[in-house]
Formats: sequence, C-alpha cells, structure tokens
Amino acid sequence: MNLILMGLPGAGKGTQAERIREAYGIPHISTGDMFRAAVSAGTTLGQEAKRYMDQGALVPDAVTIGIVRERLTEADARNGFLLDGFPRTVPQAEALEAMLRDIGRAIDRVLYIDVPHDILVRRLTGRRICRQCGATYHLEFNPPKNPGVCDRCGGALYQRDDDKPETVETRLHVNREQTAPLLDFYRARRLLAVIDGLGAIDDVFRRLRAAIEKGDR
Ligand code: ADP
Ligand code: ADP
Ligand code: ZN
Repeated sequence: MNLILMGLPGAGKGTQAERIREAYGIPHISTGDMFRAAVSAGTTLGQEAKRYMDQGALVPDAVTIGIVRERLTEADARNGFLLDGFPRTVPQAEALEAMLRDIGRAIDRVLYIDVPHDILVRRLTGRRICRQCGATYHLEFNPPKNPGVCDRCGGALYQRDDDKPETVETRLHVNREQTAPLLDFYRARRLLAVIDGLGAIDDVFRRLRAAIEKGDR
C-alpha cells in the first residue's frame, strides 16, 4: 500500500497517520519530521534545511527529493509507506512518480483530508505537542489527562511557534495556494480521494479506511 496523505495544516494528517501506520503496518514518512530531526541532530542536511524552515520557506526540491528517495529504499518501506508533507510541489510529485516507476511501484491512493478554514484555525491554535515523543493533543478536542503533560510518555507539552494565532492565517493561505496544483495533478491521474475531515477522530479514520480499501477512483 503506497499512500500519500494530504491536507492543509490542522486537517489531522499527523493524528490520522498514526492510526494508519498501526492499522496497515506501513511507516509514516513525514518530511517535516525528518527535517526537524536533522535540525536537532545538527547534521549538514539539518543546517541547510534550517535556513529555509526559519523563514517558513520550502526546502529546495533537490534536497527534499533526495531525502525521500533514500528513505523509500529503507527496509521498512518495502511493503508500502504513508507519505505526509511530501510531495509539496509538482516537480516533487513528478520525481516521486519517476523514482517509484524505476523500482516497479506506483502510488495507490492520495487521501486529501478536507476541513473548512475556521475549523482549521481552531485546531491549529489549540494544538499542543509533546517535546519528548511528538504526540499531538488539542486543548479542547483531544486534551491530555493531566494539563501540560503527555499521556504516553510524561513529557512536557508545547505550542509550535507557527501555531500561534498571528501566523496561522498566512500559513493557511500559502499552503492553500501550494496545494491546488497538486490536487489537480492527482485528480488527473484518478488517484485522489477527498475525505471529509469533520467530526470525531475515529469517524475520520473510518472514512480513510473505506477510501483506502474500496479503491474506487
Ligand atoms: P496536521 O498534521 O494535518 O497539521 P494534526 O494531526 O496535528 O494536523 O491535528 C491538528 C490539531 O487538531 C491537533 O491538535 C489534533 O489533536 C486536533 N485534531 C485532529 N483531528 C481532529 C478531529 N477529527 N477533531 C478535532 N480535533 C482534531
Ligand atoms: P507545516 O505544516 O508548517 O508546513 P511541516 O512539518 O510539514 O509543517 O514542514 C515544516 C517545514 O519543513 C516546512 O515549512 C518546510 O520548510 C520543510 N518541508 C517539509 N516538507 C517539505 C517538502 N515536501 N518540500 C519542501 N520543504 C518541506
Ligand atoms: Zn510524549
């Protein structure tokens, strides 16, 4: 199962990716997480990526495509993968298609989680993340048992700088513009499934499962 998960920031990609990973036993490959890990580790890649990330700009395609190509050759991706945050540009989508074709594989499905703007704003501004394990919570919609503390590992929860209300609107606007050509790209290939992202986390997951398993295009 070779899947791509798409959606604007706050749509629930990270939350649902975790469930898909468990249900299908495929790795969740997030380029944002990979870049953040490289920045923390202080690698050459991290130093280069940081220059762009700090400005809220995309890391150049050549760099991003390179790390995805390497990641897809790892053993755990042999039976499938769930890409999250990649592709973000049409050249990245074309490069992905070419690299999969080279190894006799193809994308099975592109899942776009659709959520209206005002709900995205509420989800982003209430999001809190565990500093230690990366688990995601929401102050209102998915609160931890003890305020400020991760249920899973006891780590401290924090708010991403770019989730602050003053940056959320611009971020959504920029992302919406970047996403449109990719939706066209995958719609044209009859791979796109648009999933209603409203409602409880479990309900959205049920819709994703149905779209993955039905294979109707
Ligand atoms: P993304 O990875 O797409 O940016 P997240 O998975 O981090 O999105 O979710 C954004 C925020 O919304 C998080 O705080 C998460 O707990 C919350 N959330 C996710 N799915 C739902 C849902 N179905 N209903 C309410 N809140 C949700
Ligand atoms: P956001 O929701 O803010 O875009 P991500 O975690 O997806 O957060 O990505 C964080 C940063 O990592 C992006 O702002 C960008 O600089 C970089 N990045 C992630 N994925 C890509 C990609 N596919 N192409 C280029 N840059 C990327
Ligand atoms: Zn944790």
